[in-house]
Amino acid sequence: MSTRAIERMRLAADEAAAQGFDALVVPPSPDLAYLAGYDPMPLERPTMLVLRAGVPPVMLVPELERPLAAESPGGSGIELVGWIDGVDPYDEMRRLAPAQGRIAVGDRLWASHLIGLERALPDVVFGPASPVIGRLRAVKDDDELAALRQAARGADESFREICTMTFLGRTELEIAADLAGLLVRNGHSRAEFTIVAAGPNAASPHHEPGARTIVASDVVVMDFGGELDGYYSDTTRTVAVGEPPPAFERVYETVRQAQQAACEAVAPGVEAQHVDRVARRIVDDAGFGDRFIHRTGHGIGLEVHEPPYLVEGNDWLLEPGTTFSVEPGIYLEGRFGVRIEDIVAVTAAGVERLNRSTRELQVVE
Ligand code: ZN
Ligand code: ZN
Ligand code: ZN
Repeated sequence: MSTRAIERMRLAADEAAAQGFDALVVPPSPDLAYLAGYDPMPLERPTMLVLRAGVPPVMLVPELERPLAAESPGGSGIELVGWIDGVDPYDEMRRLAPAQGRIAVGDRLWASHLIGLERALPDVVFGPASPVIGRLRAVKDDDELAALRQAARGADESFREICTMTFLGRTELEIAADLAGLLVRNGHSRAEFTIVAAGPNAASPHHEPGARTIVASDVVVMDFGGELDGYYSDTTRTVAVGEPPPAFERVYETVRQAQQAACEAVAPGVEAQHVDRVARRIVDDAGFGDRFIHRTGHGIGLEVHEPPYLVEGNDWLLEPGTTFSVEPGIYLEGRFGVRIEDIVAVTAAGVERLNRSTRELQVVE
């Protein structure tokens, strides 16, 4: 049994209790992988880890997956309770979970399983577990930081290499395929997403790359990342193909300054929303406030998007070890868009940028 799994499950149970929950129910998900080192496929047959402060961990598993669960890093430290097809697994949960009070359930628990639990435990009030587990997952240990750093380095190198390739006359899909290949060549086990948005498409932040052929004076936003040792990279750079369109340089410079100032605002004890405000102030002052149509960033780790979110209204206090994106953008519909994104880590002294590829405008051919 890994001591890391024991420690994380104990911390999660204690944090749940501190937040007023009588138990935590965790389905197959990055939460379960984080807590117990167990990462099975989520299925219609429920698997649920039950954590309670001061009580040893117990997990309901389909009997046919009991051997798989037993072999996992956390397996030997968890009491495994198998259920066989034909019995009602939610009825079995009556023996494992409290019959009253409040239970926090993982965000990835399927609605069908939650409805089953609600029927079996009618006196329980259910709430989301993300405020409990998200708190723990947000603060990375040294191994996690090393993986995130290595992923960021691979993404940076991929950007450097893509800038040496030909853009003119090729499609978004072709550039996206090149980027995916580069991510893998630069150490990732797989590419997770490769947004390539050219010309007017660059004004759509989550554009799906398509058959558009890149022409002279296009602006191209590339937002890409992949998985390395279970952890993700996520970076965005915006390039110009030859001579950029009118007004582009002012927009680019505004985003670059906003991103720089927001990164510099990161420090322990700072509220998440403060980082968003710093970026937004600069974009507002330049007159593009209404074209900055998303939050400034998101946590990253075992998932590409996880707490904390850098958004107005989030007073989450940043702690050393917390990793997240800083990615302001400006989007001019029908014309072009600009976004610059780096992953940063909060340190005891301030901030470490995990992405280091140049933020100076790159003109490609
Ligand atoms: Zn995004
Ligand atoms: Zn991104
Ligand atoms: Zn991002």
